[in-house]
Amino acid sequence: MNILVTNDDGINAKGIKALVGALSGLGKIYVVAPDSQKSACGHGITIHGPVMVEEVAYEGAEKAWAVSGTPADCVKLGVSMLIPGTIDVLFSGINQGGNMGTDILYSGTVSGAIEGILLGIPSVAVSFDTNTGVDFGPSKIISRTVCKRMMTKELERETLLNVNVPYIPEDQIKGVQITKLGIREYTESFQERKDPRGGLYYWYSGSPTNVFSEEDTDVMAIEKGYISITPIHFDLTNYRIINDIKDWGIKYESNAK
Ligand code: MN
Repeated sequence: MNILVTNDDGINAKGIKALVGALSGLGKIYVVAPDSQKSACGHGITIHGPVMVEEVAYEGAEKAWAVSGTPADCVKLGVSMLIPGTIDVLFSGINQGGNMGTDILYSGTVSGAIEGILLGIPSVAVSFDTNTGVDFGPSKIISRTVCKRMMTKELERETLLNVNVPYIPEDQIKGVQITKLGIREYTESFQERKDPRGGLYYWYSGSPTNVFSEEDTDVMAIEKGYISITPIHFDLTNYRIINDIKDWGIKYESNAK
């Protein structure tokens, strides 16, 4: 089995090293990851410039490449240019910081997995709900468990598994919940500063507030001490109101008449 590992925290992040370690022995591991921190880059790809690629030595990996682009760039390049043979499963992470609810729209970690499913590869994103904690033990265990299960179960096409692990001592983790996306609201705050030459700049410093309105959400599972697994697809259509919008009767009336 060939496993593609990517992330958005960069190829030297502790989380991706932990992930490679967690999946060790389950297949040939190929690492294709950004050469620097790319968190919150969403599903961006590089089209107006070159993407630099450097093959690097990487413990536990068959081969590894550091890429100057985004996670989506890494997955595209890895699959079509770099990795010999086909990829059977893709893992993105282990991200430093949770990716729940609305986070997934910004997350490079989740976008790496979305790019995987766009290319027809069963894909998993794994995030550890702390920006500072580095005990990836439970995240490694669940990554390995999910990877083994991916080898025996068939995941519906166009669907990825988004895994979040709570930042609590391992003996307090209550288990696994299969969830839906919850709601995270961000306080929209920016720090206003001056650069050394007097130019004004802003640095985003928003932080999320979890909304605990529904029981079976990812944010609620993490709050209660469970590992959350959410099946995600990228069809953002709101099917519920398609007919309502048809009833609006929006017509195109040309000015040329
Ligand atoms: Mn990240």
